[in-house]
Amino acid sequence: MATKTKFQAIRGTRDLLPPETALWNRVEQTAHEVFGTFGFGEIRPPIFELTDLFSRSVGAETDIVDKEMYTFRDNPDGNTGLEDRHDDLRRSYERHAGRDEESLYLASVHNFVNDIRRKLEAREIVSNPALEMSLRNLKKSLADYDSSEFRPDLKPALRKQVLMSEIRLQVESFSFGEEISLRPEATASVCRAYIENNMQQLPQPVKLYYMGPMFRRERPQKGRYRQFYQIGAEVLGGSDAPAIDAEVIEMVMTFFDRLELQGVQLDINSIGHSADNCRRAYVEKLKAALENVKDKLGPDSQRRIETNPLRVLDSKLESEQGIIATLPRIADHLCEDCATHYAAVKHQLEMRGVIYRENWRLVRGLDYYMRTTFEITAQGLGSQNAVCGGGRYDGLVELLGGPPTKGIGFAIGEDRLILSLQESGKAPAQQGRDVYIAWMGERAHATAIRAAKDLRKAGFSVELPPVEQKFGKALGQADKLGAKYALILGDNEVSEGLWTLKTLADGSQAKFTEPDLLVHLKKQL
Ligand code: ATP
Ligand code: MG
Repeated sequence: MATKTKFQAIRGTRDLLPPETALWNRVEQTAHEVFGTFGFGEIRPPIFELTDLFSRSVGAETDIVDKEMYTFRDNPDGNTGLEDRHDDLRRSYERHAGRDEESLYLASVHNFVNDIRRKLEAREIVSNPALEMSLRNLKKSLADYDSSEFRPDLKPALRKQVLMSEIRLQVESFSFGEEISLRPEATASVCRAYIENNMQQLPQPVKLYYMGPMFRRERPQKGRYRQFYQIGAEVLGGSDAPAIDAEVIEMVMTFFDRLELQGVQLDINSIGHSADNCRRAYVEKLKAALENVKDKLGPDSQRRIETNPLRVLDSKLESEQGIIATLPRIADHLCEDCATHYAAVKHQLEMRGVIYRENWRLVRGLDYYMRTTFEITAQGLGSQNAVCGGGRYDGLVELLGGPPTKGIGFAIGEDRLILSLQESGKAPAQQGRDVYIAWMGERAHATAIRAAKDLRKAGFSVELPPVEQKFGKALGQADKLGAKYALILGDNEVSEGLWTLKTLADGSQAKFTEPDLLVHLKKQL
């Protein structure tokens, strides 16, 4: 006999179950309500996008894109073994072009063409007209490159340049299915949607919020999962008025307040502006300061001095804290515009009664992030205590091919938000039924079905057992389900038209006509 496989949820994923899901629903409902009062509309972008969207926006050098994304090839023809070769080839153009290394690139292109031909002959891949045409064009350009007959009017260097870009375009024209990733976050999708749906033509700014699952292959632990949920919002277009930054922050804080989230701490900072050079100048100073203390830092931070010095400030290493405290602070290096903006954001927060703490170590590693950054922590979460991260990203929409567009947003970690609410006892108890209908006999069953319909229509939660039970057993069942009332329907009740309602908490009983029963329950519940 075959042993049965016992399936388990994939590592880092989990089932959300009742009664906990009631809390999830309450949190999400509150988000709909609060964000709605701030004029935000809901967007539901897809859960997967082209990998390139994320590598461009989140950053190819970040942990998220580098090692945490769930990526797959969406290829209707199955895996032909050519997809990765094709991707490598496209990337190798960037590496070799313009560096007198064209011959290396061209050799790879020749190999690629030969591989396709071999696979076609061996019938490992099926030919199609698009593939034939791409192959034909590419072969022709490769031949032109080697002969002198193509555009003899051009100087040799220019001629090669023209042909190289032809070859590159033809390499691009091959299609082996797209590389797709499950979204690790949603800001990129929202910006893509803003551009794709021409939302710059709507009244600006456009205010959008989303909620849903995100995917990152991280080491699972409390408050850190591979499928987790975010609730986020973005303000796109319009101006970068400090009041927008403050209102976005006010909105998250109002949401947390409405949920009675405990121990909420808002940290803010300004990271300057890369285009105004204040950040660049600061990063240079920071780098120089870090070089001086390099041997006192751990290997991660040492590496980051070169790759991303700002992120050294993020370090949680105990041994580095003393050194980091001595480093130059960006607030002292902001240009006049950025300093004015930051001061105005703080003033605007004060006008809104939002309490904040300035945290000069709060940074973002990517160029398109600028000025306002913020993070919110809550209690009961141990070291995974950040429930919300946000900031201004005026360069992102443009980076994704859209018009210059101001942007600011945040993402709340819903799993952690829920954990914190549960830790502080804000979770609702199991929701019992209002009424359990204990019926006996065929006639009573018909009445019970009608009663259940009427009670549910009036909004009560009703349990109607599918098969007849002895009254004693039915009452026991009602108790287990946490029902408040048992409605007893037997032959007597049906013929008299008087129904017995038993209050399970104290065992008291009373008789009601059908309309009186509804009135009575509405008063009680
Ligand atoms: P952390 O430093 O905790 O890893 P992050 O900087 O990666 O957070 P963001 O990308 O800014 O987080 O996402 C915003 C919020 O989403 C975080 O503050 C956190 O609450 C939540 N979050 C991020 N990654 C996870 C995860 N793997 N599991 C659960 N929640 C997460
Ligand atoms: Mg992270």
